[in-house]
Amino acid sequence: MTETGPLDNMLAQMEQAREYVDIDDGIFERLKYPERTLSVSLPVRMDDGSVEVFDAYRCQFDGARGPFKGGIRFHPTVSEEEVQALAGWMTWKTALVDLPFGGAKGGIICQPKELSQSEIEQLTRRYTEGIRRIIGPDTDIPAPDVNTNPRTMAWIMDTYSVYQGYAVPEIVTGKPLEVGGTAGRVEATGRGVTIITEETFEYLGTDVAQADVAIQGFGNVGSVTARLLHERGANVVAVSDVTGAVYDPSGLDVPDVSAYVENNDGRLEGYPDAEFITNDDLLTLDVDALIPAAIEDVITVDVADRLEADVVVEAANGPTTFDAAAVLRDRDVPVVPDILANAGGVIVSYLEWVQNSQQYSWELEEVNRDLEARLTEAFDEMLAAYEGKDIPDLRTAAYTIALERTADAHEYRGLFP
Ligand code: NAD
Repeated sequence: MTETGPLDNMLAQMEQAREYVDIDDGIFERLKYPERTLSVSLPVRMDDGSVEVFDAYRCQFDGARGPFKGGIRFHPTVSEEEVQALAGWMTWKTALVDLPFGGAKGGIICQPKELSQSEIEQLTRRYTEGIRRIIGPDTDIPAPDVNTNPRTMAWIMDTYSVYQGYAVPEIVTGKPLEVGGTAGRVEATGRGVTIITEETFEYLGTDVAQADVAIQGFGNVGSVTARLLHERGANVVAVSDVTGAVYDPSGLDVPDVSAYVENNDGRLEGYPDAEFITNDDLLTLDVDALIPAAIEDVITVDVADRLEADVVVEAANGPTTFDAAAVLRDRDVPVVPDILANAGGVIVSYLEWVQNSQQYSWELEEVNRDLEARLTEAFDEMLAAYEGKDIPDLRTAAYTIALERTADAHEYRGLFP
């Protein structure tokens, strides 16, 4: 069976939810198309003096509810289609957690591990120059995603500010604290995944302190989720990265794994105190919760048939294919959708942007309190829709809320010109 790519996946998810929500045909048609996708070629002078040209994109999917918002990813598998799907998911995510934003995403096709720091800086600055015509603090505000971090955001902020002639911290979120970042942003997505996992356990009657959890991906999102769930008493039995997975059925010493990775060029490979297994093995472990936190399309129909977790909490964007989601639904394995589970990042990005706009900064406790309140409210709204409207799965329930809010914004704003 051939499975579809991320954009077809997203469109199929929208169509499925449409059956349960009353949206005008013309508005639904508008919601299926990105407003614009800018494609740029980025010439970069490499360390050896040669010039290499990289392809990159910025997609602005839907801006009916506010300025576009979404991360930037550096990865070899970036494509125009992938960026559009990710921008769509950002649109539904910001609507679901009720932020006054639309959805966007950007990406550069590159292998960052093969580039030096200075080449990555040149590439980031050239990309910022390429997309500065369509981004802005009131129009489109980028943020970190796969292989980008606060350092990358500082370069974007600096490049944009140099062109403007004054500092514009609110052009990006996820910045270092020293240039207008907010307390709690680096951890926000993993903290949000942890909050949603705990809410899910409570709903399913699982005690977090007795729970076995497997997490795919040990980058920003996966490692913070692993640490926070470990702190709450969960048994994190396996974590993985692109080099493979480490597994200990009695629970990994997560701080020790993190320290090892930090001193091993960011890689899990060679961790001495656990069994080494494959990413495929990790995805099919018999655990209370499986948390994919790496890339999209890893839970295929084949994996879904063999999956033994009691629940999937999607920390990555789009980790479950549309067809695999149908298999899991038939097998009664609930899937907590990405647009809720990983929304912590964009919520705290919003709080950072608000603080920048006010030239004021909040304490960590205030940021975390706001994050938790918004996420738990969205979780409750999703459950109310799921139970109240006899909807087949949690993702469809979440989409009905997101689509309805975005469609209502279009309804009020109208079609112009
Ligand atoms: P990251 O670059 O910090 O980490 C990615 C991790 O995935 C790394 O451990 C990497 O080794 C691993 N990985 C990459 N390819 C893999 C593969 N083929 N198999 C197994 N592991 C693989 O990225 P991140 O910021 O942690 O993002 C992870 C996911 O979470 C992405 O889907 C991203 O879109 C999503 N997300 C991130 C944020 C954020 O704030 N960073 C917010 C919302 C959603």
